[in-house]
Amino acid sequence: QEKIVTGKDIAERMKNVKHKIAVTSGKGGVGKSTVAALLAVHYARKGYKVGIFDADFLGPSIPKLFGVEDKAKELIIRESGVSPVYSEKYGIKILSIQFMLPSKESPVIWRGLAINTALRSFLGSVDWEELDYLIFDTPPGTGDAILTVMDFVDLDGLIMVTIPQELSAQIVEKAINMAKKMDTDVLGIVENMSYFECTKCGERYYLFGKSRAVELARKYDIDLIAEIPYDMELLDLAERGRIEDYEVDYFEYFYI
Ligand code: ADP
Repeated sequence: QEKIVTGKDIAERMKNVKHKIAVTSGKGGVGKSTVAALLAVHYARKGYKVGIFDADFLGPSIPKLFGVEDKAKELIIRESGVSPVYSEKYGIKILSIQFMLPSKESPVIWRGLAINTALRSFLGSVDWEELDYLIFDTPPGTGDAILTVMDFVDLDGLIMVTIPQELSAQIVEKAINMAKKMDTDVLGIVENMSYFECTKCGERYYLFGKSRAVELARKYDIDLIAEIPYDMELLDLAERGRIEDYEVDYFEYFYI
C-alpha cells in the first residue's frame, strides 16, 4: 500500500528551498518549457543553486532541452528520497515526470485523479537538498496539475508565458484569474516569439501580429518581464539539448 503524501510531507521537502516559481501558459507550444529552462539558466549563471521540477505530464520536455533524457537510469532512490539528475554545464538539478516512463516514446495518459496523486507523491519524494530557486514547469491551462502545485507548494508566484495572439492572450487571462482565486501571485508575463529580427537588416517582423502582452500586463497590473524573439539559434540549441549554451539573458531585469 502506498503511503498518502500530505501537505506536511511536501512542506518538509520544500523546507530548504528558498524560492519557488511556477512557469505556466494558457496553451501548449508557446515556449513555456523553454522559458522555464532559460529562467533556471539565468539563476544558475549567477551562482545560485537551482532545480527544475518538470511537472508537465502532457509533454515533459525539460530533459530534452538539457540533454539529460538518458540520465533517468542514474536516478538514485534512497531512503531519504529520489535524487534529481544534474545538468551538464551548470549542475541544475532536474527531475521530470519523463524519468518515470518506460521510454521516451511512451505516451502519458493520465486522468485528473492520477495526475494529482502522482504529482503529490513526486513532490513528497524528491530530495532537493538545498536550493535557492526551484522552477516548476507545469502543464498549460488551468487543469489539475497546476492546481495541485498551487495547493501544496508555497509558491513565490507564477510566470505566465504567452505568444502575441488573441486566443493565447484570452487563455492567459483565464489563468490569471485562476491564480487570483487560488491566492497565488502572478510575478509577470513573458511574451515569447514576439517578433523575428532579420539578421541582415535588423528589421523586426511581428509574425503573430502585434504584441498583446503590454495591454494584458496593464489590464491586470502585472509586469511584462520579457519579450523574447523567435530565434533560430535558441531553437537549434533546444533541439540539441544544449539550452545551457544559449547566451542571451531575457531575465536581466527580473528580481525574485
Ligand atoms: P511549451 O512548453 O509551451 O509546449 P516549448 O518550450 O516546448 O513549448 O516550445 C515549443 C517549440 O518551440 C520547441 O520546439 C521550442 O524549441 C520552440 N521555441 C520556443 N521558444 C522559441 C523561440 N523564442 N524561438 C524559436 N523557437 C522557440
